[in-house]
Amino acid sequence: MGRLDGKVALITGAARGMGAAHARLFVAEGAKVVLTDVLEDEGKAVAAELGENACFFKLDVTSESDWQQVVAAAEKCFGPINVLVNNAGVVMNKTIEETSLQEYMRIININQVGVFLGMKYVLPSMRKAKSGSIINIASVAGLRGMAYCSAYCSSKFAVRALTQTAALEFVPYNIRVNVIHPGAIETPMTTVDAKGVAEEFVKNVPLKRMAKPEEVSTLVLYLASDESSYCTGSEFVVDGGAMLV
Ligand code: NAD
Repeated sequence: MGRLDGKVALITGAARGMGAAHARLFVAEGAKVVLTDVLEDEGKAVAAELGENACFFKLDVTSESDWQQVVAAAEKCFGPINVLVNNAGVVMNKTIEETSLQEYMRIININQVGVFLGMKYVLPSMRKAKSGSIINIASVAGLRGMAYCSAYCSSKFAVRALTQTAALEFVPYNIRVNVIHPGAIETPMTTVDAKGVAEEFVKNVPLKRMAKPEEVSTLVLYLASDESSYCTGSEFVVDGGAMLV
């Protein structure tokens, strides 16, 4: 028996990195998974690898019409959604002085507004399902200010506020909402987009290494499953001890 038997999950940013790892574990644990991303070719390839219990739809998390269309399509595929993982995100490492308003707003729109829209547009589907678990992916950069990360840190602090608000508002619908704060995880984000910054960060991590994406997936799985039935509005850190130093 799988830990997610009978559940339908929608994951954003699932074409690669942590989102793809979460999708693989969810399918292995019995869920039907709707993978979404702006990267169509990569997303379709991961869904194809996972077989008939997975499908892919292009979804830009900043687009209200994309959310409306994809939630409807997901329901047609597998039925009402029980689990939403708001995982899509982008990073930018620049000083405040170097950051243009347009660049700042791009990060806020994807990392923060995308989470708001995801919860807003999946809620009606979860109400049909009569229960749900929403897992928002923030970051240790949402717990503590970091140099060169003004937009990223701001967006991730906001995801905590959105999580607490939604946790309180969604109680009547039997929907739990929690947030995860990963530390340095080996994905294209840290090995390509923020390479130098991640390498510098990991020097001070007590466990002295980055994590594999799968080491976050196991926590996401716990929160998606009924095993976490008494957790809502909570924050979970998976960072190799980074916040201790
Ligand atoms: P990644 O870059 O490998 O994956 C992010 C995915 O989000 C990509 O597939 C990308 O195409 C997608 N995406 C970007 N913009 C999008 C949009 N507008 N709409 C839909 N999808 C979009 O990065 P990752 O490391 O797997 O990151 C996953 C999440 O974890 C992000 O929210 C990130 O901020 C967070 N996080 C990552 C780390 C880390 O060390 N890698 C640490 C803390 C938090």
